[in-house]
Amino acid sequence: MENKDIYIGSHVGMGAPEFYLGSVKEALSYGSNTFMFYTGAPQNSFRKPLSELKIQEGRKLIKEAGIDESKLIVHAPYIINAANFSREDLYEMSINTIVSELRRTAGFGVGIMVLHPGSHVGMGAESGILALAKALDTAFACDGTNVKIAIETMAGKGHEIGITFEQVRSIIDQCKYPERLGVCLDTCHISDAGYDIINDLDGVIEKFDKVIGLDKLLVVHVNDSKNPTGAHKDRHENIGYGYLGFDLLYRVVHHPKLIGIPMILETPYYNEKAPYKQEIEMLRSGKYVDNWRN
Ligand code: FE
Ligand code: FE
Ligand code: ZN
Repeated sequence: MENKDIYIGSHVGMGAPEFYLGSVKEALSYGSNTFMFYTGAPQNSFRKPLSELKIQEGRKLIKEAGIDESKLIVHAPYIINAANFSREDLYEMSINTIVSELRRTAGFGVGIMVLHPGSHVGMGAESGILALAKALDTAFACDGTNVKIAIETMAGKGHEIGITFEQVRSIIDQCKYPERLGVCLDTCHISDAGYDIINDLDGVIEKFDKVIGLDKLLVVHVNDSKNPTGAHKDRHENIGYGYLGFDLLYRVVHHPKLIGIPMILETPYYNEKAPYKQEIEMLRSGKYVDNWRN
């Protein structure tokens, strides 16, 4: 059944020559009514000035296509690690990058930025959570925007923090600006972290509501996982090709408690092809096509 309150899309690129206009066109080509993008390369903080990114042209097309801009998402670059006090230079660079990315996000007219909570690098989760909360205090005190940060739930590889709902709650509680924080729930990550959504999706959603509150949920990343529950690996898989499976991910996208929340695919390319058009179509309609990648 089609539901017009389903907002579903994928991450998209942003490259020369069309930049943001190209991002919007890419999203529309998949049949998306939302999307997520990086304001530059995900792996570094080198950034082109906003004036070169065809933002007005992109926003014009967004409007014409009837896309609700409040459902769009920016993802912060991976190099940020604000969960470790021990390297002062990296900690400071991370705070500065958070501030400049918040401002860039606002410059696109987008209101939500996903951030990986980072790694405590052996200092312990409690120290990592405190470091991140302090970094966010510093950033929110001076960025001058009202962009919200959605802390992404992590799979628990290495020394990541934010792998349990309690840890994510603790980050929000220790920050002086909790109204500017929300959560990004990644289906691959929470399964890898040990939450048994395969057998008890409703129970896990209820737990999230109890520990953090569903009002804090700003984004869902819809990914299948190459690994079983609790594996702590973080390897995304195409919809229906992993341990989570199509039926479960369909139920996530259409879950009555998650209606209205942007659903973003970050599944891998196969044969150098983006899978998103097919995946979005199947997740909207509920009609799974066996071996759709072939
Ligand atoms: Fe992410
Ligand atoms: Fe994710
Ligand atoms: Zn991931």
